[in-house]
Amino acid sequence: MEIMLIEENFQKEVLESDIPVLVDFWAEWCAPCLMIAPTIEEIAQEYSGRLRVGKLNVDENPTIAAKYNIRSIPTLLIFKEGKVIEQIVGALPKEALKSKIEVILPMELKEIKKEIRRGLEKYTKESPYKFNPDKKKVDLILSGLAKRKKELGFAYCPCRVPSGNKEEDRKIICPCAYHKEEIAKDGICLCGLFVRKER
Ligand code: SF4
Repeated sequence: MEIMLIEENFQKEVLESDIPVLVDFWAEWCAPCLMIAPTIEEIAQEYSGRLRVGKLNVDENPTIAAKYNIRSIPTLLIFKEGKVIEQIVGALPKEALKSKIEVILPMELKEIKKEIRRGLEKYTKESPYKFNPDKKKVDLILSGLAKRKKELGFAYCPCRVPSGNKEEDRKIICPCAYHKEEIAKDGICLCGLFVRKER
């Protein structure tokens, strides 16, 4: 649900927020503002807990509108740690707005895990390898990969230690440079995520 922003609560609700805040600068007479209002409402619901969404009527709060140099509406500003990190002027379609938001929001571990799973599932379709039939093990390794991606930016193999050398470490991004050799030898990669399809 959106927060109705006014000059008195702007500092607390926006500038001191511990999560990013999208502020919709709008006015009652502005047709495009009314047009995107349902989208803003949906965004508030969909991103609840990750993104705070507020509406600020520029006629009733001219000081804030002036402070942020709002020259036309609708204007959407995204604040993070009290600073404007994105400005969107005009009525953007929902999907375009969502892709801008996605870039800004830190991904949750479970989303990173899902994304990694999707990528590696695709790999199993195109390669002679499949996931280990032991689903618990697969889940554990995917969690390890997600954790590393969140912390280090890349899905480094959870069974190996990154050296800090980018070129070298590229080789241990899953599926690593070594898994084919390991599967040819032992029928399974070092972590146990992939096995040969005939197994
Ligand atoms: S050993 Fe297996 S899990 Fe680890 S990076 Fe290589 S393919 Fe991925």
